[in-house]
Amino acid sequence: MTKTAEVNYYKEEFGEEYRTEVCDYITDEKIESILDAANEPTDIEVKRIIDKALELNGITPVEAATLLQVEDENLIDQFLEAARKIKERIYGKRLVIFAPLYFANQCINNCLYCGFRKDNHQIDRKKLSQSEIVKEVEALEREGHKRLLVLTGEAPITDLDYIIESIKTAYSVKTENGGEIRRINVEIAPLTTKDFKLLKESEIGTYTCFQETYNRKQYKKLHPEGPKSNYEWRLSVMDRAQDAGIDDVGIGALFGLYDYKFDVIGMLLHAEYLDKKYGVGPHTVSVPRLNPALGSPLDEVPYPVSDEDFRKLVAVLRLAVPYTGMILSTRETTEMRNELFEHGVSQISAGSRTTPGGYDKKEKNKEELAQFSLHDLRPIDEIITGIAKDGYIPSFCTACYRLGRTGKDFMDLAKPGKIQEFCKPNAMLTFKEYLEDYGTDQSRKYGKTCLENLKKSLKEENPKLAANINEKLEAIEAGEHDLYL
Ligand code: SAM
Ligand code: SF4
Repeated sequence: MTKTAEVNYYKEEFGEEYRTEVCDYITDEKIESILDAANEPTDIEVKRIIDKALELNGITPVEAATLLQVEDENLIDQFLEAARKIKERIYGKRLVIFAPLYFANQCINNCLYCGFRKDNHQIDRKKLSQSEIVKEVEALEREGHKRLLVLTGEAPITDLDYIIESIKTAYSVKTENGGEIRRINVEIAPLTTKDFKLLKESEIGTYTCFQETYNRKQYKKLHPEGPKSNYEWRLSVMDRAQDAGIDDVGIGALFGLYDYKFDVIGMLLHAEYLDKKYGVGPHTVSVPRLNPALGSPLDEVPYPVSDEDFRKLVAVLRLAVPYTGMILSTRETTEMRNELFEHGVSQISAGSRTTPGGYDKKEKNKEELAQFSLHDLRPIDEIITGIAKDGYIPSFCTACYRLGRTGKDFMDLAKPGKIQEFCKPNAMLTFKEYLEDYGTDQSRKYGKTCLENLKKSLKEENPKLAANINEKLEAIEAGEHDLYL
């Protein structure tokens, strides 16, 4: 099919929303001019930006670009430290835990970096049946998961009806010890507004979609075919989600596809656009780095991002959008993850597989079904133990979304620092529940110390709240489930 015929075909499929005219709030020229304006940062300017960021009102894209240009280790250490302080002030020590669940790996797109792409004949194709989804969710619940991110490729075989049915199935699975899924976030290909309305009815949490790279020329090279080859259709997806009433949206770039500085600025412009238009920026930003995928024609990472640069970009994002959750996946190594918890990351996946059927014993570790390879393969309990040992609180909390604290309502609580009043106690309650129901000797040992310390600090901060939480912790120990504020 010629490109014009392809566009016409998808226009018929998706309607007029399948736009091709340029969304002018993000253009290659605009991002380049921001990066140019930020050249050669002086020490005084960098320090001014850091001080501004510490006031928790964010920094502009030009200021972020200035920080991205810094090479001086001393100065970088200073903004890594500022990111640590900001993270702690807004999120405290909590780290939200979730697991990805792949429904299928068929795809009509041909993203050159992805194992699921249409022309990859080296992987086996698999779409989970509803009973297979039940088995996957049972396996995840028995590990203690309460929050899922569901994903799939884009294909007629996994149309919206299938996705909605699968979400319903996942929510319906209950296992012993109060095992259940309490929040399902969704990362699927862009939909029309009408379809987003249907998706919203299945009670999803956040809708996430990565722009992959914000550079139009590179985007075009890497996405040669299928609906995803249309940059504007993807960039405008959050407008359609918001128009359909989905007010928690997640954005991201796949780092390694293009110059990381360019893509960080693209993400910030995207966040700024959403904030101005909807009164609320993205609920989360994700920072995936490109990993090898079986059958990818890319011999090497097009624009490798070193660990040093990765650290820097995470910290700059934390300074720029202080109230936005930041997600780090198991694409990263244990060491890198542990380090980045400090500098801005607030949500992590744990015990993940990128394989449809990867949690049920049958398909475990089958590389020929996976989307890409992972680095942190530790089981969830080991991850939880490590987190508690390092003084963080693993959180399985789903309270905000279930109580309607989403979109602007969530941000109105987050900005004056009020969300901490919910996050910390709810993290304690859900962590206690995890330890009671699924903990091993190891996680219980470190978890107990972690909770004791938190109880002490909560008592000093707010004795009335501490008494309430102590009561709830005792109730959980006595077998109650799902207690939250
Ligand atoms: N297929 C949908 C899409 O592309 O939006 C749903 C999400 S896809 C299953 C999840 C994400 O995986 C993609 O957006 C892409 O950023 C990421 N991904 C694909 N190949 C990857 C690789 N080799 N390494 C790391 N992440 C990858
Ligand atoms: Fe398909 Fe998504 Fe992979 Fe692209 S990234 S080939 S759209 S699954």
